[in-house]
Amino acid sequence: MIDLHVHTWRCRHATGTVAEYVAAASARGIGTIAITDHLPLSPELIARDPSVAAYAMPEAELGAYVAEVTAARDEAAAAGGPEVLLGVEADLYPGNEAFAGSVLKRCAFDVVIGSVHFVDGWAFDDPDRRAGYASWDVRELWERYFDDLIAASASGLADVVGHADLVKKFGCVPEGDLAPLYEAAAAAFAEAAVAVEVNTAGLRKPCAELYPSAPFLGALRRAGVPVTIGSDAHAPAEVGSAYGEARAALIEAGYSSAVVFRSRRAEEVPL
Ligand code: ZN
Ligand code: FE
Ligand code: FE
Ligand code: ZN
Repeated sequence: MIDLHVHTWRCRHATGTVAEYVAAASARGIGTIAITDHLPLSPELIARDPSVAAYAMPEAELGAYVAEVTAARDEAAAAGGPEVLLGVEADLYPGNEAFAGSVLKRCAFDVVIGSVHFVDGWAFDDPDRRAGYASWDVRELWERYFDDLIAASASGLADVVGHADLVKKFGCVPEGDLAPLYEAAAAAFAEAAVAVEVNTAGLRKPCAELYPSAPFLGALRRAGVPVTIGSDAHAPAEVGSAYGEARAALIEAGYSSAVVFRSRRAEEVPL
């Protein structure tokens, strides 16, 4: 079992220390866990809306984060525990590439998840900001989100596209055929040579399905996009959550292996 997406207390909206996550992984038989806390947000974004500071670790703590994960990795290795990877989840909305790239360069990450949580500065996945959906036509929002996600994948900054259809989180899904959006995204991800995660957090949200959906996952498989698996745990109790569902969805889509990243290089693991 693998879990390549978890958050700790350091991002200010999750609970649990790195050591508690590693212990949870060990207890659940997870062989490889990547700690992927939210990369610090840009000072420009925080200046525009100070309340977004609660979405990520402060920039001043990045060094402490890396030290904490590295120490846990060495401790687990010495104790015969799970493999611990140093990861991060970066916000790659348009305009943030230079800032995110400069921060990412400072640390020797094993894996970088690239995610889009903001559209025009609006954190569309925050339950407290759901009112924002009222000012969008749902299809236009989806098209814009997919455009931004494709740009994020093409930035060269990320190894894995995070929760690829996050825009469905609260169940706002356009009517009509979504296949063209999925096919275009899958082709772009293949071209950019990024992997996509099957993220089980969607099962715990109003949309009540995996990110990405089964039709999207089918398009990714046809395009030859590699996959990994993550719980997006925000508490140690969620580590490895719904791994069986993720694995079953991958097999159903035709996958027989997943990938993990070590020093930013993909390595295949059987499902
Ligand atoms: Zn989070
Ligand atoms: Fe995210
Ligand atoms: Fe996350
Ligand atoms: Zn996430």
